[in-house]
Amino acid sequence: MINRLVVFGATGDLNARYLLPGLAALRAAGHLADGFQLTCADRTGWSDEEFRSWTAGQLDRHGHSCPADARTWIADTVRYRQADATDTADLASLIAGDGPVALYLALPPVVFPGTVTALRGADLPPGSRIVLEKPFGEDLDSAQELNRLLSEVVPEQAVFRVDHFLAMTTVQNLLGSRLANRVLEPLWNSAHIAEIEIVWDESLALEGRAGYYDGVGALKDMVQNHLLQVLCLVAMEPPLSLGERDLRDRKIDVLRSVRPLTEEDVLRHTRRARYLAGRLGEREIPAYADEDGVDPRRRTETFAEVELHLENWRWSGTTFRLRSGKALKDDRKEVAVHFRPVPHLPFGHTGEALPNVLRFGLDPENMTLGLTGIGSGARTLTPLTLTAQMEAPDLPAYGRLLLDVLHGNAALSIRGDEAEEAWRVLAPVMSAWSGDRVPLQEYPAGSHGPAPESGKDPR
Ligand code: NDP
Repeated sequence: MINRLVVFGATGDLNARYLLPGLAALRAAGHLADGFQLTCADRTGWSDEEFRSWTAGQLDRHGHSCPADARTWIADTVRYRQADATDTADLASLIAGDGPVALYLALPPVVFPGTVTALRGADLPPGSRIVLEKPFGEDLDSAQELNRLLSEVVPEQAVFRVDHFLAMTTVQNLLGSRLANRVLEPLWNSAHIAEIEIVWDESLALEGRAGYYDGVGALKDMVQNHLLQVLCLVAMEPPLSLGERDLRDRKIDVLRSVRPLTEEDVLRHTRRARYLAGRLGEREIPAYADEDGVDPRRRTETFAEVELHLENWRWSGTTFRLRSGKALKDDRKEVAVHFRPVPHLPFGHTGEALPNVLRFGLDPENMTLGLTGIGSGARTLTPLTLTAQMEAPDLPAYGRLLLDVLHGNAALSIRGDEAEEAWRVLAPVMSAWSGDRVPLQEYPAGSHGPAPESGKDPR
């Protein structure tokens, strides 16, 4: 295990909300021993004391489920360094020390190429690892260039492209449910499944994050990475093992099998939209275009929906709908597997046999299966729901990912070719949307989203 972790992006949102709490969870679970070296760096220029006090405050706020002694240990252990992530001398001095280091780039993605370039002369100790957060580039060309730069610094096995969705309990349970049971896998194909929705609809609006979000938008923020990764686990062939090679080979097969989107596909089967002023519970939400820091001329979408089809034996004929939106009335974060209707209903029953829907809740994490049974009248069909609550995970998603980084287990990290292929899948959408060939619809904050096109199921 690597015993030194340097996080660039010390005072950033990711470190405050996820990495520091993840580390506290690792300490609480006994994974971080005394002597573990944790350094956080950015250009802010705080003292160790100021940063420790800030860390304690962030852990109280975002890591309160962790025992107090683990939080205190992190706050007491962490050191702060002022450094520019694109400066070779700064990097070299941060990295200097005994043994390999894990370097976590919790930085704005535009900084990645400069950092990786600067790392070339920074004497990264052998065995070190580099961790990047999505988005990996901003299109296929920049993703390829980033991969090229990385390959000049460390071998691919030492690059951890993190997508925390892959470490969520229910996302992991997509694999568990499919592959550790007999009942699902025989039905897991287009003969039985009409449509699979992968949805991350949230009631949260921009929440002051224009600096990151404006110009990125829902397609690149959510669909291109998190939702495509979930698609890979939903649709992949059973891997030989869950080791890094087998799992990632099967995931990239899925991306490669996505039918290339034609211009007509994009015009007919994708939607983009942006929220207008509205009300969310007690809160008045301004229109996205009027939010602080937003440049309305960018026409950034806050809602994205894309319909995909896979060209392979298993899935030809099933629709995959990936969708994410902000400032929506309801949080709906799930994978919903819609089975086809039964071929025949015995004569004489009243009521409707709704097609079965298996839902993997991503937040909250749970599973439900919608069935049809016979109601009390003996001749009436009635809906039944089977519900499974997930056991609380032993570690939060970021705790698990950080542990994998420290131990060098790359199975849940995204390989370079996957990162590129994911851009390839959505390149036609990005091109048509940036050229305004798909209209930017509007929806009031607090509504169910843009009106579906006529004839489309408004689910
Ligand atoms: P923030 O904008 O909140 O923080 C960015 C951090 O990087 C700050 O500490 C900033 O400090 C530092 N920084 C910027 N430029 C440099 C530089 N040249 N040298 C040193 N430090 C620098 O971003 P987030 O924390 O939200 O995001 C970080 C990464 O994580 C991004 O890639 C994002 O896409 C990804 N991510 C974020 C998630 C989230 O929920 N926040 C979720 C999933 C992924 P300063 O400017 O003072 O140097």
